Amino acid sequence: MGNEATLVGAVKTEQGVELKGVLMQPVVDKCEGCDRIRSFEGENFCSSYPNPARKWFDGRCNFATHIKAESGKSAKVNPLKASKRAAKGR
Ligand code: SF4
Repeated sequence: MGNEATLVGAVKTEQGVELKGVLMQPVVDKCEGCDRIRSFEGENFCSSYPNPARKWFDGRCNFATHIKAESGKSAKVNPLKASKRAAKGR
């Protein structure tokens, strides 16, 4: 592999890919485009979290580098909810 960022220090074990004794889960779809993705043995992993899926489970990953601009804190303003609230307040 060329200049691609690789997961430094990762090892392949029977359980899967481990980094410093922690089993790594591959990144999820939502991670695509994030600068923290590291490739290892043809799979992509996160350099910040061993389990990206869990990172996204209850919202968005707070370390994601690719979506911060559009869906940072302002993402909490859900247009649908806002309009419902407005309707209620009538
Ligand atoms: S930092 Fe978050 S979005 Fe980026 S690869 Fe890791 S888990 Fe995915």
